Amino acid sequence: MKFKNLQQLMDYFKGEKKCKAYLEKVRWNGEIKCPHCAHDKVYRLEKRFECANKNCKKKFSVTSGTIFENTKLSLRTWYAAFFLLTTSKKGISSVQLSVQLGITQRTAWFLMHRVREVLRKGEDISLLNGLVEVDETYVGGKLKNKHKDKRKEGGQGRSLNDKTPVVGLVERNGRVMTFITENTNTETLHQIIDNNVANDAIIVTDGYKSYVGLDKKFMHVVVKHTDGNYIVQEGGRKFHTQNIENFWSIFKRGYIGIYHYMSKKHMHRYTVEFGFRYNTREETVQERFERSLSNIKTRMRYKDLIQKTA
Ligand SMILES: [Zn+2]
Repeated sequence: MKFKNLQQLMDYFKGEKKCKAYLEKVRWNGEIKCPHCAHDKVYRLEKRFECANKNCKKKFSVTSGTIFENTKLSLRTWYAAFFLLTTSKKGISSVQLSVQLGITQRTAWFLMHRVREVLRKGEDISLLNGLVEVDETYVGGKLKNKHKDKRKEGGQGRSLNDKTPVVGLVERNGRVMTFITENTNTETLHQIIDNNVANDAIIVTDGYKSYVGLDKKFMHVVVKHTDGNYIVQEGGRKFHTQNIENFWSIFKRGYIGIYHYMSKKHMHRYTVEFGFRYNTREETVQERFERSLSNIKTRMRYKDLIQKTA
């Protein structure tokens, strides 16, 4: 199988049979296990499987226990959604997806959030190492507060108005990790860094007050943007926060140009979506698609998704 665009993917996954065979490979890779008892001997029936464990004997299909279970959409539609979301540079709106796939906007919206949730569950959460840039940004909020977008670098925090803080960490030549937070005070930022960065890493930040004190635990390089510095040279090495800033800029372009609005409740799913594309930037569209599908054991119901959080 080789595909480079949506058309080729749709041609390849013409029938549900082909889609299911593909899913079987992604999910089990030849070692089919009962999703109920994890027994590894199963009988292949015409359309389903039956567990060979005498105490179980349950029947199941390749979609049992995955996000595709009980779906009314074809697997082909799902695959197309995975493909489009993981390869569209700035994301894809539910309106656009609904047109491309011939589904309602409401279905498209839900579909994309489930794809994002799969990406989230599949995230690599191992510690970041080497040179790690850390920065925060503030997303959303009313237009009238726009001029307050950038908090004062040397300031002691800022009024968030109705914006949502997002903290980002980028490993040089590596991964990005994002966190939605309530605030950007010292405790919050230090804790995120402590939990996700290896002790011998070098941390690079701007001059924001909440980063003060990181040097007690890490080597900490501060690039003071207020002084007009964007690169700090030390010991023959160059330190900057351009990678995380580039990530924010792509995220914000997607926010402004594609999504227009992200509720705080779903914000983490959007940041993970952009993070996935950043982290797989060296991969082909097909590799991205395959990687995104590799954690499909996550189920999420519509009522869980729309449930209001406090
Ligand atoms: Zn079983």
